[in-house]
Amino acid sequence: MNQFSIIKVFIIMLAIAVGSCSKTEDIVKPDVIHWNYEHPDWQTQGFSECAGPIQSPVDIQTNSTIKVDLPNLDFNYSAFPIKIIDNGHTLQVNNNGTNRVVYNKKTYDFKQFHFHYHSEHLLDGVASDMELHLVHQDPSSGALLVVGYFLKKGVANSLFESVLSNWPKQKETEVSTTTSIDLNSLLPSDNRYYTYMGSLTTPPCSQGVMFFIVKTPIEVSSAQIDQFKAHYDHNARPVQPLNSRLLYEDIL
Ligand SMILES: [Zn+2]
Repeated sequence: MNQFSIIKVFIIMLAIAVGSCSKTEDIVKPDVIHWNYEHPDWQTQGFSECAGPIQSPVDIQTNSTIKVDLPNLDFNYSAFPIKIIDNGHTLQVNNNGTNRVVYNKKTYDFKQFHFHYHSEHLLDGVASDMELHLVHQDPSSGALLVVGYFLKKGVANSLFESVLSNWPKQKETEVSTTTSIDLNSLLPSDNRYYTYMGSLTTPPCSQGVMFFIVKTPIEVSSAQIDQFKAHYDHNARPVQPLNSRLLYEDIL
């Protein structure tokens, strides 16, 4: 390889890195510009896509959803050791893609999950105590598929406990643990959902994210909610206008 081809390869790699950044920000989150939930007008802070027409979260108005029989979310999950980071906006557990979800004959690799207090999506104008986001990515196109669950006050959840008890002491540093978790133990047996096309709910608010909000909530204890809240008592983006989008409801 001569000097010019090395430079050329470097430029191409740089272009790929920059190009992939916008799609995977929720996964990588290099915080070039600081943002917060006190001033969620992120479009005025250098994140122009946050003012786009297909943003998340939204208020799910159940009387105006389109009720149809939609494909199942087929989770292909198995146990993996917790790699965890407090990224300054939420608590996040990362995975290297050993878990998958199949939707409409397409496979999406599981990347990470994280939490919001209170829920970001509303159901008929009402927020749930918390919301869990399972983030998946199509390895070929880079398209994101996020499955959201409402967490509500009830019995303590052992998986949530494992995650909370591994909260890293230092922010923005991923910690590898020997604690193993299996997301199968978390998911309700009924995975029927609401779905729509939206965006990342954090800057840069990249659009084109397939959002699924499962109808059956997951129970966590009030002590567990308080434990999360002690770190993040408001990390939920306000709901965004639905505009011309349709919201589908899987009923069968
Ligand atoms: Zn989220």
